[in-house]
Amino acid sequence: MNPWFGKAAFIVSLISMMLIRAPHGKRSGQVKIAESRKGRLEIALLALMWITTLVLPLISIASPLLSFADYGLHALPFLLGIVCAAVGLSFFYRSHADLGTNWSISLEIRQEHQLVTGGVYERIRHPMYLSIFLLALAQAFLLSNWIAGPLSLLAFLLMFPLRLRPEERMMLKTFGDEYGAYVKRTKRLIPNVW
Ligand code: SAH
Repeated sequence: MNPWFGKAAFIVSLISMMLIRAPHGKRSGQVKIAESRKGRLEIALLALMWITTLVLPLISIASPLLSFADYGLHALPFLLGIVCAAVGLSFFYRSHADLGTNWSISLEIRQEHQLVTGGVYERIRHPMYLSIFLLALAQAFLLSNWIAGPLSLLAFLLMFPLRLRPEERMMLKTFGDEYGAYVKRTKRLIPNVW
């Protein structure tokens, strides 16, 4: 099938992500940061996510620079990509709505930070990371290019384990037993499983 179907679906998903995140970034940006754990590693990982989610796809879509790594798009990966993008976007939207001004792009505790345990956070602790994983999977399915397609999934698989422990340690230090009890009754990414 025409690879532009995949590229168009990817662009729609990318723009939707930006539209969902923009108002939250603006709103939580107005709440002061009480504690930040944004070290050099964290900055490097965020940069890697930006490059693989935005820069490389745009280069491959708008220029012939990465065309040597193109391959054909087939119907099944295209459909899987659409499903992953739709489910990923719904989790992306819900997790931002539920976190509200407690959201940060990095490891940060805001002033008057509240522990969110309801909505999409009721059964899993990292629904936003789940959504980012699904959106990266969608990118790999939709962009039929060996560089622009799968690299953001690899970047996520690198970032996720490096972020999970420090984030949970920070939350435990801030919220103590309340977070400990929350950890006991929830899973990380998949309800009842892990
Ligand atoms: N790991 C979560 C949140 C990602 S955003 C998810 O995948 O859904 C990262 C920021 O959210 C962290 O800096 C932390 O301050 C905040 N955070 C994470 N879990 C939270 C929770 N349950 N309640 C409130 N804030 C939370």
